[in-house]
Amino acid sequence: MTDCVLAFDIGGSNLKAGLVDPSGNILKEDRLPLPENRDQALEALIHLAGGLAKQGECIGIGIGAPGVIDHASSSIAADANNLPQLVGARFDELFRVWDVPVKIDNDANNAARAEHLFGAARGKKNVLVVTLGTGIGGGLILNDTLYTGASAYAGEFGHMIVEARGRRCTCGGEGCLEAYAGAWALRLRAESLRKRFPESSLTGFPDGAMDVADMAAAARCGDTLACALMREAGEMLGAALASAANLLNFDAVVIGGGVSAAGDVLFEPMRASFRQRALPKVSQTCTLLEARLGNRSGLVGAAALIYGNTE
Ligand SMILES: [Zn+2]
Repeated sequence: MTDCVLAFDIGGSNLKAGLVDPSGNILKEDRLPLPENRDQALEALIHLAGGLAKQGECIGIGIGAPGVIDHASSSIAADANNLPQLVGARFDELFRVWDVPVKIDNDANNAARAEHLFGAARGKKNVLVVTLGTGIGGGLILNDTLYTGASAYAGEFGHMIVEARGRRCTCGGEGCLEAYAGAWALRLRAESLRKRFPESSLTGFPDGAMDVADMAAAARCGDTLACALMREAGEMLGAALASAANLLNFDAVVIGGGVSAAGDVLFEPMRASFRQRALPKVSQTCTLLEARLGNRSGLVGAAALIYGNTE
């Protein structure tokens, strides 16, 4: 196991750790709830590490976390507001005694690394990896290299503008893709429209209780409201993908995240919208793929930080 990477996936409520081999397989893994106190959170990371490997048994430590990362100091920058206890913590110093490279990046970038190195986009040079969840994240691989942009904000696919003066987004802007196809937006839209569709099965859910899986299931049964919601979200996704692909001429787009489990009721209108809107040459070159790594992408992507040449 001496050629493995010790990988961490830091989430808003859990710390996951795993030992990942050079082929991207997770050999061992463990998790702990994320303590609210900073010292206890750091201790939990050390404890997880010690349970999976001993010093000298791994070639590097890779870490994924939500939000913006300060690469100069290997830490989570101040605006990762769902992890206040870990903002500014120096992970390189925390693991200094391991005497191996320690790298950290945000989870959307790591998901892109994971799919590029070990998943659906293996062998593709120019790739957009989209994560559909409560929000919509993205990671860009250009010429086999992760592209982060001038201030590490590249890949904010959820905030592509699909409608000037459109619906309000959580970022404060309007008309962002996320305000049409993010899970939060789909639920709000369903709740506001269902009064007009008394026959819809979506009227049976208490406010706040409906998720995209419920809407997708209803759409597969032909529910008019659910079909309309999925169709609109798919069309907007396809339009945003076409814009991004027209700009960057991808070999492939990889779609993952919990909302992608909605399947064809979302993907069919998305594909049609993309093919209709992308320039013919751009559309011919670009393959639309489903992510392969699923919920392993956090740990595998953190390991890809060490294994990859996408720096
Ligand atoms: Zn936005």
